[in-house]
Amino acid sequence: MLAREPSPTATWRRPQIAADQWGQAAGSRPVGPTLDTPLQRLPKISAERLAGMRRLGLVTVRDLLWHFPRRHEDQRLRVPVGRLRPGERATVEVEVLSVHLRRARQRRMELVEGEVGDETGSLGVIWFNQPHLARILHPGRRVTLHGQAARHQGQRLQMRNPEVQLERREGVQVSVGGLVPIYPETARLTSRWLRAKVGELLPLVALAEETLPEEVRRREGLLPLGEALRQVHFPESQARLDAARARFGFEELFYPQLAALLARRQRLARAGTRSPYDVEVARAFTRALPFRLTDDQRRAAHEILIDLDRPSPMNRLLQGDVGSGKTVVAAMAARMAIAAGHQVVLMAPTEILARQHLETMRELLSPFEIYPRLLVGSTGARQRREILGGLLAGTDKLVVGTHALIEDEVRFPQLGLCIVDEQHRFGVAQRLRLREKVDLNPDFLSMTATPIPRSLNLTLYGDLDVSQIRTLPPGRVPVRTELVEAAGRDAAYQLIRSEVGAGRQGFIICPLIDDSPGAEARSATAEYERLTKEVFQDLRLVLVHGRLPAREKAERMEAFATHQYDLLVATSVVEVGVDVPNATVMAIEDAGRFGLAQLHQFRGRVGRGAQPAHCLLFVGEEDPAATARLRALIEHSDGFELAEIDLRLRGAGDPYGLRQHGFPEMRVGDLLDDPLRERARAAAEEVLKADPELTDPILRRGIRDYRVVFEFD
Ligand code: ADP
Ligand code: MG
Repeated sequence: MLAREPSPTATWRRPQIAADQWGQAAGSRPVGPTLDTPLQRLPKISAERLAGMRRLGLVTVRDLLWHFPRRHEDQRLRVPVGRLRPGERATVEVEVLSVHLRRARQRRMELVEGEVGDETGSLGVIWFNQPHLARILHPGRRVTLHGQAARHQGQRLQMRNPEVQLERREGVQVSVGGLVPIYPETARLTSRWLRAKVGELLPLVALAEETLPEEVRRREGLLPLGEALRQVHFPESQARLDAARARFGFEELFYPQLAALLARRQRLARAGTRSPYDVEVARAFTRALPFRLTDDQRRAAHEILIDLDRPSPMNRLLQGDVGSGKTVVAAMAARMAIAAGHQVVLMAPTEILARQHLETMRELLSPFEIYPRLLVGSTGARQRREILGGLLAGTDKLVVGTHALIEDEVRFPQLGLCIVDEQHRFGVAQRLRLREKVDLNPDFLSMTATPIPRSLNLTLYGDLDVSQIRTLPPGRVPVRTELVEAAGRDAAYQLIRSEVGAGRQGFIICPLIDDSPGAEARSATAEYERLTKEVFQDLRLVLVHGRLPAREKAERMEAFATHQYDLLVATSVVEVGVDVPNATVMAIEDAGRFGLAQLHQFRGRVGRGAQPAHCLLFVGEEDPAATARLRALIEHSDGFELAEIDLRLRGAGDPYGLRQHGFPEMRVGDLLDDPLRERARAAAEEVLKADPELTDPILRRGIRDYRVVFEFD
């Protein structure tokens, strides 16, 4: 990266030009940097800092000015160590007295512990899993720490995971009104340096084009962009800072909702395929089932069938925990679409899952002489040709598969309904591809076992209608979930053994595949070896992980499903799919490493039969956040409730992996801020009412980034 490009705008590369003169030269001659100037063209920034900024995604001046402080330090919170009180958040300016790195039991966590102090006293400090601090914080170094001091078990005062600033206080020249911006620090970029750089470039905010229409801003009482940018970095007062953040927070909730509303409007105006709601067909379907649909299933099915009957294309999300019976509902929708003469595809993220769906569809739909086909990566060439031919001719009505379904040659001329399972597991690009390759506007049904809290639904899936299945089919017993610490391991193995002895099966989940250097997680491979040789010598164990070829993986899963093995040792590949009602134990190694949603998914793999089931969470020395997650899992079994808790535990920022859904980063906004979200929603509705085609260039620009998530023209 050191090969710098020659700068075409070298004229301004004179450090003596004062920042507040930049950008003011009128006329054609470019004099100073603009918001789009790459940071590497600015004078006096080392290659190391450029690299550090690039790692944060900061490439242009604009990026830097939109890189908001994580917080502001109120200098009034700065206290001498001797006056610290337990429970209070405070900032201390201290010298490092001692520091050492310690591995916690079983090498699962690295702790940096030490002591710091000033002339008034000393204080213990500890950081979890931040080993690099041991290299930085050598004795004698002066640092500023920000955090909450507490007394744990009556011991001395200690700060856990305080924020660290390496700089010294003097030289903080740009602070006003006692509020100093603190930027996230990285190894190569100190907050202090960023602060100085942002301060220097700040006059350029005058060049920023307003991103909210004046009318909206006025009605909502929001600061203009330039002012908001200034105040968000260097606020004059807490009130100004709040006002600045409110502006950006509003904007971040306004545009996705506006984009979603527009997408929805456009979709409802399009002509789609229609499958009339034939009550006789629905009745015949439910009569053929070996069980009664739950009320939630009925309601969801009804909502879907009504949508199918509409002339505009459906875009609906079916949410429900693993095993809540979504597939049955999807099969009913498929039945209705096929009865209307349409073709249906069901796409799953893995081959294993596709095969399972194939089986389910076959069972549920063969009474109606519907015979689903399977198209996956491992489908042989001859069979593939035959399926493609059947689809093209319209003789095949239902095809289940994986990504193989969106390859170029695959055509569904009569596609009326497209069902996508675990849509979020497909990349955004693949989803678009699927939509693009069909000429008609088929109805769309996505299914997900990741419960999305209601508070997120509107924004995250703004253009989707949502059907939820919240209750499990009758007869399921809740899974007993417990923490297993090192001392309880033998007893836990005893429990697994006794379940197997009673003819049941179990899963053992491990976080990583291999022991790569530095990785502390137990690897599935090593664990498989160990369990086979040392713990369950007499039981039948099988190993499955993500690096196995798809076919091999499917075969091993299948063998487990047909009870040729007692225990399945796996990495997180079992997360989706795998219906083994005979499995009654789920053991999860290093449970603290997984997110709450994922743990809940794992747990959903057991308790699918009538027998009581167990979920054993093996834990080491957890950090407090992990402990809160695990406790929530023990106390709650409802996926939607857990999703809410998960969201709150993670807090604002990117709580639900929005980036992964194609969303731009949220810097200020908080999806959990209900009143603000509602306000932004109302404003978006208002705006769209006044300008239904959204012709305002400012609004068009504002929704641009959401185009990948919500499709609109
Ligand atoms: P999901 O797709 O939500 O994971 P499935 O549709 O695969 O759930 O259903 C899980 C299991 O529960 C299947 O074996 C299915 O036959 C069964 N099942 C679904 N609905 C009911 C019901 N209403 N009563 C009893 N069993 C049901
Ligand atoms: Mg399913």
